[in-house]
Amino acid sequence: MTTCGMCETPVEHGYLCPGCTRALADRLQRMPRLYTALGAFLAPAAAPETGGSRTGRAEAPLPVSEPVLNLRGPGGMVGVLEDWRAALHTARRWHPPTPGVEITNRVALAAAALIHSIEWISTCWPEAGDLAHEIRDLDNDIASIIGARERPVGTRLGPCPAEHADGTLCGAVLRLPPGEQVVTCRWCTTTYPPAMWTQLKQLIDHDTEQAA
Ligand SMILES: [Zn+2]
Ligand SMILES: [Zn+2]
Repeated sequence: MTTCGMCETPVEHGYLCPGCTRALADRLQRMPRLYTALGAFLAPAAAPETGGSRTGRAEAPLPVSEPVLNLRGPGGMVGVLEDWRAALHTARRWHPPTPGVEITNRVALAAAALIHSIEWISTCWPEAGDLAHEIRDLDNDIASIIGARERPVGTRLGPCPAEHADGTLCGAVLRLPPGEQVVTCRWCTTTYPPAMWTQLKQLIDHDTEQAA
């Protein structure tokens, strides 16, 4: 009997509990989408404030957002993911991975490679807890940028019914911003055009009932 390297609950064998293994796989799976989504946040001055901002904007805005630049740069998402992928190859005595071509592709390749070995990582790799922590922190850093800029305004619709590859539901709160025609989940980036709204409502009602 050992404990999960992430949440410290006891596990039969291995280094991550099933819940933390799934959370790690989900986070890895979102990485390519989040990398792309972050691109929209490179210029902090671009979007006019709609709601009242409590932070105020006294200083002149920077030409580019430095945290976003860092996350999208060589030491950011791609660096973290590729370092872990290289460590995985070393641990499994595999040849070093062949690097991808441009950064979006490299992020996707490294994340996919780690997901591919997720079972081995959680059951056989003592580094699993460190990996899970680092990916969670990375995910939180990105969410703080995307969440801080995309203020939740508009009509609250209910939990996003999009299903992840492992069968779990997204569950992030969906909102229809004023004047918009398409509902977009801020978390998983699934879009719901007006033609899908009836179905969307049914799914939300269904999921809300199930959760109750
Ligand atoms: Zn755990
Ligand atoms: Zn969603």
